Amino acid sequence: MSQAKWNLIVDVANCTNCNLCALAVQDEHVENSLPGYAAEMPKHGHRWIDIQRRERGQAPMLDVAYLPTMCQHCDDAPCMAAAEDGAITKRPDGIVLIDPDKAKGQKQLVEACPYGAIWWNEELDLPQHWFFDAHLLDAGWKEPRCVDVCPTGALRSVKLDDDVMEKLAQKEELEPLRPELATKPRVHYKNLWRYARCFIGGTVSEERDGVTECVEGAEVRLLRAGETVADTVTDGFGDFRFDRLDPDSGTYTVEVTAAGGTGRREETLGESVNLGEVRLGT
Ligand code: SF4
Ligand code: SF4
Repeated sequence: MSQAKWNLIVDVANCTNCNLCALAVQDEHVENSLPGYAAEMPKHGHRWIDIQRRERGQAPMLDVAYLPTMCQHCDDAPCMAAAEDGAITKRPDGIVLIDPDKAKGQKQLVEACPYGAIWWNEELDLPQHWFFDAHLLDAGWKEPRCVDVCPTGALRSVKLDDDVMEKLAQKEELEPLRPELATKPRVHYKNLWRYARCFIGGTVSEERDGVTECVEGAEVRLLRAGETVADTVTDGFGDFRFDRLDPDSGTYTVEVTAAGGTGRREETLGESVNLGEVRLGT
């Protein structure tokens, strides 16, 4: 018989960096030892839920994305492989637990987690992580505290059979963080492109009667290796933007066509870039 398991869904586009989730974790776990689950969290230095920040582009075409990170409750967990004496276990409901007695002194577990989700408690000589508030779920809570407090709906927890979760992931275009690690995480990200991908943007302008004006409605094409990748039209400010590109993905050509002429720029993409002004006739 299949078994419903916990999953966390993180919508990057909805995270505002308010940090209420991280504070809820501290409120729940600082000075609160939970035998069978975890020892207390230290007051300083640990971020069991940590919000990463990334700026994309350059002013004035600039945005910021926030990425909530935490233990991913991997089904193929490298931390479990590195643990001695069965110090890390996976429960039938998918939650990964670090046994606070057996894990004592096992500092190698910090390095074993490729997500950097295990924190070292110096005082207690103990590795620790966000354990999905398993103690609350076992007591009948319907969701962990971070989900309960998130004001924007950026965090959702669902307990589903794996095949149902897979269908949900397809439907909502959810992605794992760092899929190259192949650890089968139970945390799934929506709109991850806001953080992990990049854009090429710019502003189309032309000179009219000695005055520089932005050009609305110019057709802009993005090409790589001679093939069209995407096309768009400039907005009322003459701006265009091609998003969801992979970082370090090669050299792109931007071709602009408008009533007043054409423009062209080449860019080798590292991170997000604002090309600035693309002047017709250049
Ligand atoms: S509570 Fe929600 S919106 Fe606030 S930082 Fe956490 S995930 Fe982001
Ligand atoms: S994210 Fe790290 S600590 Fe959590 S299960 Fe995966 S390997 Fe273990």
